[in-house]
Amino acid sequence: MELQNKNVLITGSARGIGLAIAHKFASVGANVILNGLSGISDDILAEFAGYSGKVVAVIGDVSKAADAQRIVEEAVTALGSVDVLVNNAGITRDKLMLKMTEEDFEQVLKVNLTGTFNMTQSVLKPMTKARQGAIINLSSVVGLAGNIGQANYAASKAGLIGFSKSVAREVAARNIRVNCIAPGFIESDMTDVLPEKIKEASLALIPMKRFGTPEEVADVALFLAGQEYLTGQVITIDGGFTMQ
Ligand code: NAD
Repeated sequence: MELQNKNVLITGSARGIGLAIAHKFASVGANVILNGLSGISDDILAEFAGYSGKVVAVIGDVSKAADAQRIVEEAVTALGSVDVLVNNAGITRDKLMLKMTEEDFEQVLKVNLTGTFNMTQSVLKPMTKARQGAIINLSSVVGLAGNIGQANYAASKAGLIGFSKSVAREVAARNIRVNCIAPGFIESDMTDVLPEKIKEASLALIPMKRFGTPEEVADVALFLAGQEYLTGQVITIDGGFTMQ
């Protein structure tokens, strides 16, 4: 897919990987729809002033079906279509299983998995009408390999893989592609909060001996959006962490 002038909606894009993905698409001439729980600051909007494409900001909580529908409607009203959806919004509520509450478990599934369901369902109508689209879901290596203290997060990220492959099969004939990115340890606010001991232990297990950057994940998102014969796949980007 040629991405210049295409409309790309990225959930949870006020910071971190989502913001880097928005910059990446904007840098190739795409129009971007930013989404945040409580708005996108003027400073962030100003960062996009130098690109040729448009930037639109839409507030909304992807875990609420009505919000997801409104986010897509506002994007379509502003730009006419959504050609690429990046389901990036995600949270963690890390706890060992014996201490994890049902609320910890359900809240993570509600945002990471149900949020992706809500957004995907909302965007499929306009994409089906356009007979074109790419959906990219942010899974994680934790969804492939599991991780201590992250049973809820791992369940949500593994669930995204089965979800993506199922939807990919359903919509392939309509020229809509669905793929996952499974990043390893990426520098962001989500990982900044981890204790130094955990960071050091993770680093020791990464063959490339460094964490990834949001920009490196954004490169994979751009690649997946552009490749017209690529669907139902999980691309891992983790410095070799999960290689077998
Ligand atoms: P982050 O915490 O920096 O950013 C997540 C963004 O999602 C935030 O802006 C947050 O406000 C937003 N968000 C949270 N709940 C939302 C909701 N209900 N509706 C709309 N927006 C919501 O995290 P990040 O590191 O940039 O991660 C982005 C994605 O990549 C997440 O899905 C995460 O699970 C995944 N991921 C991250 C890493 C990593 O190492 N950082 C690794 C693998 C996967």
